[in-house]
Amino acid sequence: MKFFVTSRGDETSEALRKRAEEYLTDFGLELDEQEPEIVISVGGDGTLLHAFHSYSHRLDDTSFVGVHTGHLGFYADWKPEEIERLVIHIAKTPFQIVEYPLLEVVVRHYGGESSDRYLALNECTLKTMEGSLVANVEIKGELFETFRGDGLCISTPSGSTAYNKALNGAILHPSLESLQIAEMASINNRIYRTIGSPLILPQHHTTLIKPLNDVDMQITIDHHSMVDKKIKSIQCRVAEEKIRFARFRPFPFWQRVKESFIGD
Ligand code: NAP
Repeated sequence: MKFFVTSRGDETSEALRKRAEEYLTDFGLELDEQEPEIVISVGGDGTLLHAFHSYSHRLDDTSFVGVHTGHLGFYADWKPEEIERLVIHIAKTPFQIVEYPLLEVVVRHYGGESSDRYLALNECTLKTMEGSLVANVEIKGELFETFRGDGLCISTPSGSTAYNKALNGAILHPSLESLQIAEMASINNRIYRTIGSPLILPQHHTTLIKPLNDVDMQITIDHHSMVDKKIKSIQCRVAEEKIRFARFRPFPFWQRVKESFIGD
């Protein structure tokens, strides 16, 4: 089996990356950065986000597993002291695959037929570089509301514990194929009105966000950020592609939520 190990780059993660590489090579696995069948990400959830985007062109052929060298993560759920155990699992046992939904984002521009397509593991956010974001939000081809406020966050179920949670969005189990729209400080008064609650859309519903003010927009896709002016629309829906995690033992999602946010 071909593998690759990514690291956050700090001393602890690098030492662990080297150990994992040595052990796996000793077990006869082949180090292959271009076409790995399994990617071991050493660091945190942010490190796994980077790993996902490095291999998002070959999601059918690559599985991911995360080791955390800081606090417990949602994508990185193996402890550093378990590295030998994890390596033996990878080398010796056929692993189970757990798939999580992703978000498909299509950005269209004025004055061109071209569109840009992105996949997000956590979320896409839309804000303006100055002033409020004013945008029509369509759901399934119908105008739902005109949003005015700081911005919008459209997240995956596994991204619901990240930025979405800071916006008081719901935490969704990653087996729910859905996306969530959460508002960032919407303006609500007698003139402007938004729903005010996070919305959860099923797999077959698409949302289209059409900015109405001609200002520089900031779009983020997970940790990537870009600034663009001539945005006509941002279309979000549940992607056909999924991310595959290699699972060697049960670690229920709700237990991870509890350990991360509530403690023992
Ligand atoms: P960062 O600002 O360096 O770190 C963001 C934090 O979010 C890290 O502690 C990271 O965990 C954690 N995280 C990432 N994915 C998560 C998930 N699915 N569930 C729970 N926590 C998660 O940025 P980054 O490392 O490049 O990550 C980009 C992400 O930051 C974005 O996708 C967005 O979700 C998040 N973010 C959150 C806020 C907010 O909560 N107000 C604002 C901006 C961005 P690790 O420490 O394990 O890496």
